[in-house]
Amino acid sequence: MLDRPIILATRNGGKIKEFEALFADFDVRFQSLNDFGPIPEVLEDGTTFEENAYKKASQTARMLGFPALADDSGLVVEALGGDPGVRSARYAGDDASDEENNRKLLEAMEGREDRRAAFECAISIAVPRGPALTYEAQCQGEIARAPAGTNGFGYDPIFFYPPLGKTFAELTAEEKNRVSHRGKAMAELRREFDKVLLWLEQRIREEPFQL
Ligand code: IMP
Repeated sequence: MLDRPIILATRNGGKIKEFEALFADFDVRFQSLNDFGPIPEVLEDGTTFEENAYKKASQTARMLGFPALADDSGLVVEALGGDPGVRSARYAGDDASDEENNRKLLEAMEGREDRRAAFECAISIAVPRGPALTYEAQCQGEIARAPAGTNGFGYDPIFFYPPLGKTFAELTAEEKNRVSHRGKAMAELRREFDKVLLWLEQRIREEPFQL
């Protein structure tokens, strides 16, 4: 067993629960940012999902002295040159709601025939000195002409997934998980998690325990 916890670099209770459930059968202890006092927010100013995930994971690992895992995700729309991309959460403004982001995106897509889009997700696991492993996955779809469905969050009501003939907001959580960017990246990480733990043990042996 790894002699120290892996820190999930998030305060999002939903993400923490989902992660703990998916990795419950591994011999490892998880903690999250909620188990620590206030620590400085990591500025998500990278130009790629991978860069932001790495930044969150490595800064958290360095600040707390434990290995840390972070993810970053968003929607990439072909006809908009990759927007909203790393700005997905803030597309219509810093405190924009999901509805406002969806409305802005539908307006930007008005009259466009090329509606191809992809959700992308990057997961990074870093140790305090900096080295990291990255897992990435994407899910191809199209921007719908109008919102449909009430499940999920974010851009789900306007992300149409052709293989199932529905938007993500019309899928159950299980259906979405099987095909989504995050579901696929997590599944890949799970498949390789034994190797990840060995990698972490080796990296930890090379660096002093620090608190
Ligand atoms: P984060 O990686 O959790 O910070 O997500 C960034 C933003 O990307 C979210 O606020 C959503 O707007 C969007 N996003 C990421 N994943 C999904 C998804 O599965 N469905 C809908 N929107 C998503």
